[in-house]
Amino acid sequence: MQKIGIIGGMSPESTLLYYSQINRSINQRLGKNHSADLLLHSVDFETIVQLQKNNQWEQAGEILAASAVILENMGAQAIILATNTMHKVAEQIQTACQIPLLHIIDSTALAIRQAGLTKIALLGTRFTMSDGFYDDRIKKFGIQLVVPNDEQQTEIHRIIFDELCLNQINRTSRDYYLNVIHDLKTQGAQGVILGCTEICLLINAENSLLPIFDSTALHTQAAVDFILGE
Ligand code: GLU
Repeated sequence: MQKIGIIGGMSPESTLLYYSQINRSINQRLGKNHSADLLLHSVDFETIVQLQKNNQWEQAGEILAASAVILENMGAQAIILATNTMHKVAEQIQTACQIPLLHIIDSTALAIRQAGLTKIALLGTRFTMSDGFYDDRIKKFGIQLVVPNDEQQTEIHRIIFDELCLNQINRTSRDYYLNVIHDLKTQGAQGVILGCTEICLLINAENSLLPIFDSTALHTQAAVDFILGE
């Protein structure tokens, strides 16, 4: 087994999913009582949230780069950053260490490409939907994004930070997301990226009108493949 290092805490609710999904999948693949040999370094999410709000991305990147170095020094052979938003500073993190960062956009894009789809809705934080870093990278896979309008982005973003990151699961918020997905389908989206690692707490394959590409599940699967050397 290869050792993976998770940079978590953004939020702790999705880091829990990373921990359980990776371990369950390793157990399914290897049987007996096998589980993943992994490292986790978890940051104080509020510190990161404040830096995001103040547009201090480089400072946030420094914290996460330091976290990657800690994990590398402890023996991690690859890094998993358990948030879409903070992949805005992925390059800064990658530059700080020698081991590979398994990029969340790549694992999502590969699944979309495998499904043969090219026009996809993106739900995530406002930073993910609007700042360009997500679009710039996924474009290289031949994938075109459809994003919610400004008012919808504000509410989607609010629900992530005020509810999902605190494990508050509300029916009205679920309905709101489902309505947005409906709108994006009418604009030609063939599927929807759950491009925030907590959205899977609200939306799943059963309730979504469009096929889902769950960044959390796809990223943890990439981690499992790495751990098993596949
Ligand atoms: N977990 C979220 C994401 O995947 C949002 C939290 C954050 O801002 O990192 O983007």
